[in-house]
Amino acid sequence: SEKRLAEAQKMEAIGQLTGGIAHDFNNLLAVIQGNAELLEELKSGEDAKPMTSAIVHASQRAAELTQRLLAYSRKQPLRPEVIDTRKLVSDMSDVLQRMLGETIVVSVGSRNGAWSALADPGQVEAALLNLGINARDAMPHGGKLIIECANVTLDEDSNIDGSEITAGDYVVLSVSDHGVGMSEEVRKRAFEPFFTTKGVGKGSGLGLSMIYGFAQQSGGQATIYSEEGKGTTVKLYLPRAYSETESTVKPKDEAVPRGN
Ligand code: ADP
Repeated sequence: SEKRLAEAQKMEAIGQLTGGIAHDFNNLLAVIQGNAELLEELKSGEDAKPMTSAIVHASQRAAELTQRLLAYSRKQPLRPEVIDTRKLVSDMSDVLQRMLGETIVVSVGSRNGAWSALADPGQVEAALLNLGINARDAMPHGGKLIIECANVTLDEDSNIDGSEITAGDYVVLSVSDHGVGMSEEVRKRAFEPFFTTKGVGKGSGLGLSMIYGFAQQSGGQATIYSEEGKGTTVKLYLPRAYSETESTVKPKDEAVPRGN
């Protein structure tokens, strides 16, 4: 529709703008960071230590942010490959568990037996990290983070939460929490770049929009189900791949290149 097109153009423009700014800003940051580190090493000015280390830390954080902006504006192209999402999720659960701390219990599961997807594994990992951080922020007193992979076949009439998606086979990664949830107003805007309800210096508002962009570019979709006071589930639909170990599903000549 026209509205979708306008939205896509807006995203594209924002992406290009942020990419350009992030690139220039990154160069300036390197100068700030380098000089701050030199200053920190100087034996004199002991009084200046707290200030110089504040500069060093702030510029490190800023450098991380510009990296995310660069990734967002897709200066780096996607590298899709056949991934075993069940294995990826199980490997990531350890990383997430360590990152989120012991108040959050990470639990993983899978259903329906076919989990090969065609997508950029680095981006899937980044998506899971972002969703894990959002879940932790939504459960300040702790709770359970559930990650599940399943596969679904969507036909022409399938409608996932009003979102457009091509009929076909998908692997769905669902990430659920029992946290504060979102109001309908927040849910509707959550995929917008720079939309955040977290305070200044806390949220970038890029996590979910990056996931959305990644899902679209991978030929999939992302959806949010949320209820205030109950919790949130974000679903990432990725196109199914047919690896040799699943050859019963599709003939080999239809297999995606670079299977296991
Ligand atoms: P950020 O986390 O930096 O704010 P995101 O794009 O990841 O950026 O999220 C946008 C907004 O969506 C958040 O500020 C928050 O209001 C809401 N949100 C995202 N994930 C959750 C969640 N699991 N539970 C409740 N609200 C969420």
